Amino acid sequence: MTVVTRFAPSPTGFLHVGGARTALFNWLYARHAKGKFLLRIEDTDRARSTEEAVQAIFDGLEWLDLSHDGEVVFQSEGAERHAALAHQLLEAGKAYRCWCTPEELSEMREQARAEGQRMLYDRRWRDRDPAEAPTDVAPVIRFKAPVEGETVVEDLVQGAVRVANAQLDDMILLRSDGTPTYMLSVVADDHDMGVTHAIRGDDHLTNAARQTQLFLALGWQPPAYAHIPLIHGADGAKLSKRHGALAVSAYAEMGILAEAMCNYLLRLGWSHSDDEIISRQQAVEWFELDAIGRSPARFDMERLSSLNGIYIRQAEDGELLSLLNPHLSRLLEQEPDPALMPRLERLLPSLKTRAKNLIEMVENAQFLFLQTPLVLDEIAVKILNPESQEIISELLIELEKLGSWEEESLELAVRGFADSRSLKMGKVAQPLRASLTGKTVSPGIFDVMIALGREESLGRLGDIAARVS
Ligand code: GLU
Repeated sequence: MTVVTRFAPSPTGFLHVGGARTALFNWLYARHAKGKFLLRIEDTDRARSTEEAVQAIFDGLEWLDLSHDGEVVFQSEGAERHAALAHQLLEAGKAYRCWCTPEELSEMREQARAEGQRMLYDRRWRDRDPAEAPTDVAPVIRFKAPVEGETVVEDLVQGAVRVANAQLDDMILLRSDGTPTYMLSVVADDHDMGVTHAIRGDDHLTNAARQTQLFLALGWQPPAYAHIPLIHGADGAKLSKRHGALAVSAYAEMGILAEAMCNYLLRLGWSHSDDEIISRQQAVEWFELDAIGRSPARFDMERLSSLNGIYIRQAEDGELLSLLNPHLSRLLEQEPDPALMPRLERLLPSLKTRAKNLIEMVENAQFLFLQTPLVLDEIAVKILNPESQEIISELLIELEKLGSWEEESLELAVRGFADSRSLKMGKVAQPLRASLTGKTVSPGIFDVMIALGREESLGRLGDIAARVS
């Protein structure tokens, strides 16, 4: 059997963290089993589905590098086929027309509420003679669900999930305007697309029982289900907006690497012994559904950040530079000058060692791209008082004499200069940093000098020295 999985988002908002994890698990399982991973956009709710949301799903999957096989299926395009199935069930006596009026339904709802119950349709048209149907009500088609016994979903994560059939009512398959309901469309599509494994959030567990009944009524085999516990916030409550960003695109904007995000999502609910850093290739090799946990995983930004730092340190320089580029452009409000990119490349080893995300990296590198003379920030202005300006102008003379512009010679020169004037290293390094970067916080001072290069460094120091009267 070829394994076929699918990701079936409803395009009613951005691609959120939970959806991304569902997509990842389906993708991994398909790749692991050398099967297929299909994408279905569940756009049957025309009022709530938007083009932007569809695009956000495509963009999110592309960012995470989760490519699907075959054409994208748009659920709405199958409406006719789905409606035909409802009629097929009707003819087979497995569905029936219901002429309940909205008033009758709200009465049922009211009564259920008064009794503190969930509303279940009371099946009043199930056995009633259609000859009694009112002429001014357009009927819906309802599923003739089993009344007794139970429906068992053999879930690959949750185990056998038993639902008493008395808990499930006769759901609508076809609305009075002839449009199929979501539940019917999902079953029809999962069958038609040959889905063998449906991996999704456990908020769909009750649906799975209803869908199983419908599969069986249609004479089809339901897919194997794997319902994954939802993601919770650090406080243990279901992940929601108040926990911070939910859209995967927001993490891209925060400078999280896609590989780090995938690694993090993978570990949210799935484990392989104590492994934390798991490459895509290893994940494909190891991913089994029985290693999905049964309790909700907690989303923890700190852990994502530290994982991201690890991925940044592992990344190749060339790749990192191209990832940094759009963030840099945004920060500088223009494309960085390509002639200055070697500066960034030289600073990369130092930037890498401390960064938790790409934004921090470009912020720490911004000084490389600034126009001179630099505009100093407030504290840098304070540091560069007349006394410090004097120190810089004297240090400049020493540095100009240097034959080589390398960490060792620079350090020797700066320390030697400080010693010769009985100054503490900080007394020299602080004004030096302020002169070179315009700020008081920066990567290591010698890394800064090397990244800027000899000419630019001396030029920036010269700008400060020129202030000495
Ligand atoms: N469209 C559903 C959702 O976005 C998923 C349905 C399914 O996976 O069966 O929650």
